[in-house]
Amino acid sequence: MGAEEGGVIVVLLGPPGVGKGTQAGVAADSHGWKHLSTGEMLREEAASGSELGREVQEIMDRGDLVPDALMVEMVAGRLAEIGPDEVLLLDGFPRTEAQAEALAERVGGSHPLVAVYFTAPESVLTQRLLGRGRSDDTPEAIRHRLEVYRRSTRPLVDWFRARGVLHEISADRPVEEIQRDFLHVVQDALADASRPS
Ligand code: AMP
Repeated sequence: MGAEEGGVIVVLLGPPGVGKGTQAGVAADSHGWKHLSTGEMLREEAASGSELGREVQEIMDRGDLVPDALMVEMVAGRLAEIGPDEVLLLDGFPRTEAQAEALAERVGGSHPLVAVYFTAPESVLTQRLLGRGRSDDTPEAIRHRLEVYRRSTRPLVDWFRARGVLHEISADRPVEEIQRDFLHVVQDALADASRPS
């Protein structure tokens, strides 16, 4: 431990409404890990009333993705400040292969990447999203977000699987059970990263 401790970057994958944000938030609070939600980051930008914020709000309300170049630029600063033995939970990023490539390029050398894929039946997701009441949670936007997810983000499951770092967790269970499994994955990854090579 101590000097030999390593850090790790954990990517939370899964469809909208699967509970990634909840899982990341609970784990980050209880373990002092960093938690970056790009959705939150974008909602803050939108709330600021800036020109960029207005554009971002329109994209989010449609359920489309913010362009990769902008996303990578927004996240780059946060990636650059991660300490060598810190844990960063990435919630909502990457969402495309281009973003995943950019992530691996920036942190691949310093921090191992681990991906956790949360799964749940689509009927459960739609119910949860409709019950949440965010401005981009209208039935039309939800349908579109699920479609964009399937087309652009779902392929990342195979992207991470091909790299041998994918872990799958069923999210159609009580929050505490999901959290327990999630913590196991992160702690195992941390133990691996801490082992002298
Ligand atoms: P979320 O809170 O993760 O559901 O994100 C809300 C919205 O923000 C998404 O529907 C997208 O419009 C946008 N967004 C969040 N993260 C990303 C990302 N990594 N790439 C592109 N758009 C994103």
